[in-house]
Amino acid sequence: MRRALEIAVTGSAVPAGGVAPVPAEADAAVPADADAVAPIDDVPVGAVLYGPDGAELAVGRNERELTGDPTAHAEVLALRRAAQRLGRWRLDGCTLVVTLEPCTMCAGALVLARISTVVFGAWEPKTGAAGSLWDVLRDRRLNHRPEVYGGVLEAENAAVLRAFFR
Ligand SMILES: [Zn+2]
Repeated sequence: MRRALEIAVTGSAVPAGGVAPVPAEADAAVPADADAVAPIDDVPVGAVLYGPDGAELAVGRNERELTGDPTAHAEVLALRRAAQRLGRWRLDGCTLVVTLEPCTMCAGALVLARISTVVFGAWEPKTGAAGSLWDVLRDRRLNHRPEVYGGVLEAENAAVLRAFFR
């Protein structure tokens, strides 16, 4: 989750279609000052996708404003990059970590990608589709339901978003 938070805050080092280099201490390095951040207008949401072996496959940051693409949410970008890297759409065994509760689009995409585990940070009562407004990820009518862990490092993740909207 600290890596996802780092992506959300710095918005850095995400080469187009590629995978960001992983600094040795990436998990320890979350900038304390959320104001000293990204010169981007996008809501700071970061996602990291890990393979079945725990290795980082791809990252994504919300780039809706940057790209003018309504679907450029952190989760979707991480999914696309991981699928491209693996050469397949089916990402079973993989884990997606994201700083904010996924919306309906992202939750739907995660189900379609057969992601095995979803870990998210802050709850999003207005649009969340992993338990807040809907629970697309665990809807029993769907044929695939990932394991879901919500509210991880919630205070830290929520603080980054609050700082952005302040
Ligand atoms: Zn989304």
